[in-house]
Amino acid sequence: MNTVRQESDLRRDLRSTVDRICADYPDEYWREMDRDRRYPEKFVEALTDTGCLGALVPEEYGGLGLGLGDASVILEQIHANGANAGPVHAQLYTMGAVLRHGTEEQKRKYLPDIAAGTIRLQAFAITEPTAGTDTTNLSTTAVRDGDTYVVNGQKVFISRVQHSDLMLLLARTTPKDQVRRKSEGLSVFLVDLRGLDGVTVNPIRTMVNHETNEVFFDNVRIPASSLVGEEGKGFTYILDGMNAERILVASECIGDGRWFIERTRRYVSERVVFGRPIGANQGVQFPIARAHINIEAADLMRWRACDLFDAGQECGAEANMAKLLASEASWEAANAAIQFHGGYGMAEEYDIERKFRETRLYQIAPVSTNLILSYVGQHVLKMPRSF
Ligand SMILES: Cc1cc2nc3c(=O)[nH]c(=O)nc-3n(C[C@H](O)[C@H](O)[C@H](O)COP(=O)(O)OP(=O)(O)OC[C@H]3O[C@@H](n4cnc5c(N)ncnc54)[C@H](O)[C@@H]3O)c2cc1C
Repeated sequence: MNTVRQESDLRRDLRSTVDRICADYPDEYWREMDRDRRYPEKFVEALTDTGCLGALVPEEYGGLGLGLGDASVILEQIHANGANAGPVHAQLYTMGAVLRHGTEEQKRKYLPDIAAGTIRLQAFAITEPTAGTDTTNLSTTAVRDGDTYVVNGQKVFISRVQHSDLMLLLARTTPKDQVRRKSEGLSVFLVDLRGLDGVTVNPIRTMVNHETNEVFFDNVRIPASSLVGEEGKGFTYILDGMNAERILVASECIGDGRWFIERTRRYVSERVVFGRPIGANQGVQFPIARAHINIEAADLMRWRACDLFDAGQECGAEANMAKLLASEASWEAANAAIQFHGGYGMAEEYDIERKFRETRLYQIAPVSTNLILSYVGQHVLKMPRSF
């Protein structure tokens, strides 16, 4: 049997569509956005117009009806061009909660507009300042009152809220002391942010150009029909979506890694010091080669995770491992890039320092490396639980 992976025509087309869009948004564009911490609205609009962001919405709801592997190619290719998919990636997968657990009415109401990009669902609010990684300890509440729920609480690091019409919210609907397990009594809501009273959004400036915010809910009244799936089962719905997110973020890291390697390969082959290209020195070559090897290895795990996901099989271990391997490999490539560009690696106009900052995020968000290690230790290797 021939086990060599051949890229399908569809995936090659997706790559060339992304390349064509990215060609109009070169390094200077991203540098300017980064300098002013601006949202790359024009790039987002151009990408939306291709229909790519509706890749995972089934055709019956107006999307492209593609698989996660196809979607991962789109995001990888954005990053391989030196661009950043952070401002748009959530539009691809956040709707998964509605698709898998929403009512037919919710799907018909929202998915076609999400697929077309006329409605943006790219904010999801899980993290809280006091709970941190311990998600089930969150304290934002949604209390049923007639035909509405009343939401109170605070979220932190909630990305793209200012550029999103809808937000997926995880809140506690049954107090912790009234449930058997902390993971019970949490519910997911699809919140329409347009014209909603009681929501305060404060931007957080971070080391990367990533629109992220503190969000406060002060007696926010949302229709009871915003509930997604069954009340109290929200935590499992969020877990369902995490594998897709991890695989897609892994793909972005692989794109970053390839960008770093290509830029650095070219630079060290041309930069002459001591009468020869610096890339002729094995002390320079080997770290770049090693980073390349690790990116290719991470890519194999990414494809294993994609294949399992698209076959509807369990892929938690592979999704987590792909994310860990890819985020570490892109960081290794970033380190080699900044080192072997010498002083120029630090110079804004070379873009290495910008991508260096950007790719570092993925060891922290959407899930930190330690939490992946603890998942593998406990759930894959069946060692005793630590928390
Ligand atoms: C730019 C950015 C964008 C983000 N976007 C979103 C978003 O859109 N929506 C959203 O909900 N969240 C978002 N986040 C939040 C992100 O998912 C969290 O920051 C991340 O999961 C870590 O949570 P924390 O910051 O509270 O860290 P903490 O939970 O305080 O953890 C801090 C460190 O301690 C480690 N640690 C904690 N407990 C253990 C343990 N038991 N064993 C070993 N190590 C441990 C962690 O691994 C981590 O490295 C974003 C964050 C950033 C920085």
